[in-house]
Amino acid sequence: MRILILGPQGSGKGTQAKRLASERALGHVATGDILRAAIADGSDLGRRVRPILERGDLVPDDLMIELIRERLVDEGGFVLDGFPRTVPQAEALDAMLAEIGKPLDVVLLLEVGDDVATQRLAGRAEQEGRTDDAPEVIANRLRLYHELTEPVVERYRASGMLVPVDGEGTVDEVAEEIESALTGVRAGYR
Ligand code: AMP
Repeated sequence: MRILILGPQGSGKGTQAKRLASERALGHVATGDILRAAIADGSDLGRRVRPILERGDLVPDDLMIELIRERLVDEGGFVLDGFPRTVPQAEALDAMLAEIGKPLDVVLLLEVGDDVATQRLAGRAEQEGRTDDAPEVIANRLRLYHELTEPVVERYRASGMLVPVDGEGTVDEVAEEIESALTGVRAGYR
């Protein structure tokens, strides 16, 4: 099954994507994790993107599209998390998946308000020490989500593939909602 998971920072997207991937034996393709690993490795890519992540800005589309292309070609089923974040990225993804004959089966949207998202991210900043979870950086990331990623949500809504899920419950409650949302979706029939 090929699942795209969308939602603002703090919606629990990463947690749910990891869980879904391990329960269903799918690849978890998380662009934020890939970029943080590149930074930790000190690779060329890591050096280039580090200041961008620290500001909470978005990495340029062309770089992200190349990065994701390499990953998706190798994956069977997957949960895609953190990409696409802009309409050009979404267009590139759709074209790429059509080209390799692996269209998405479903697009899940985890819905949470900005206040809940901000609270959760502040908690994560304390626990995990992610530098991009500092308050002013969080505000920038949420602003970019509304400005650039919400049009991506609307694009998938218009295509009829979007399944909204209430993301404000506990991890287990949201997981249950996702499972019932997926019950109606059959893989590989599109
Ligand atoms: P995440 O862990 O998904 O919140 O991603 C952390 C950071 O990585 C984001 O704030 C961006 O700077 C960068 N990033 C991750 N995915 C993308 C993407 N698809 N497009 C642009 N930047 C991205």
